[in-house]
Amino acid sequence: MYPAAGWVRERRERLEAPASVVMAWLGEVMEVSMASEADLKESRERLEEERRDLLDEIERLRTLLKTETDAATQEGDPDVWEHERTLAFLEVAQTRLEGVEQALKLVETGRYGTCQRCGAAIEKERLEALPDTALCLKCQREIERLSGRARR
Ligand SMILES: [Zn+2]
Repeated sequence: MYPAAGWVRERRERLEAPASVVMAWLGEVMEVSMASEADLKESRERLEEERRDLLDEIERLRTLLKTETDAATQEGDPDVWEHERTLAFLEVAQTRLEGVEQALKLVETGRYGTCQRCGAAIEKERLEALPDTALCLKCQREIERLSGRARR
């Protein structure tokens, strides 16, 4: 992320300030950008770990699904409920995986942590709890409110 026009103006003002002030300020800037880079790296690692877990889970569910289907064919008495449940889990895992992959794409293009609806920065605590979220809390609530109304 690069500083905007205000940064250039401020930089010029700072350059006219005593060297010690400029150095202290540069230290601050470096620290800030390093911290956010570390955050980004951490987010990426968490997302990659989650992707691995989800891929394992999907693999496990697919195997389970196959075993269930085979058993049903042999016994002629399919446990429909069990089967439906596995399918539902598989669907959830695949949807989560899509979210994680989208978030990883955002990390790569430098847009991670930005709300895809309003463009505001997503709350840090929210990203920690939901690393693949693409919406800020406000937009999430707004969407929930709208969809809640549509359902009624
Ligand atoms: Zn938003």
